[in-house]
Amino acid sequence: MAEDYQVRIDLSACFFYTSKTMLLVTHALAGATIVTKIKNPLFSFPFAFIFHFLMDYIPHWDLGTSFNKRSKLENFILASLDGMLSLFLVFVFFQRNKPFSSNLWLGVGCSLLPDLLEGPAIFFGWQLFPRLNYFHSNISHQKSQHLLPGLLPQITILVLVLLWL
Ligand SMILES: [Zn+2]
Repeated sequence: MAEDYQVRIDLSACFFYTSKTMLLVTHALAGATIVTKIKNPLFSFPFAFIFHFLMDYIPHWDLGTSFNKRSKLENFILASLDGMLSLFLVFVFFQRNKPFSSNLWLGVGCSLLPDLLEGPAIFFGWQLFPRLNYFHSNISHQKSQHLLPGLLPQITILVLVLLWL
């Protein structure tokens, strides 16, 4: 009985966290800024990872807002575009015209990690990190159903990031 209940909790987490994450672009640029400003990766990598959850705590709009109204394929394509745009913008703002920085890309990876780790559960039903995903789900606030107000916190973060560079 108790085990059944536990399974149900994990499955509900699997369902809910898909609808509560911030855009990858916002996380990636924030992570790139963190590793650019904090030179020591011993501090910047864990901070980039933890900062992901702090950002998700802000109410926002993202691809997950209408996740369950779209097909899996549509969501996969949108998430891929979000991911590719993230890498492109990190390249443009942080890497272009500079020597290759493995710390930059590893730091961006850390900042995206909570979302990347939930990918297998969302798209393939492989719940590999149930506790982390459950925590991710609980800390995430995705309350803005409307596009513009939901994007405003993220646009604000991006402007601050770009001003800080
Ligand atoms: Zn997230």
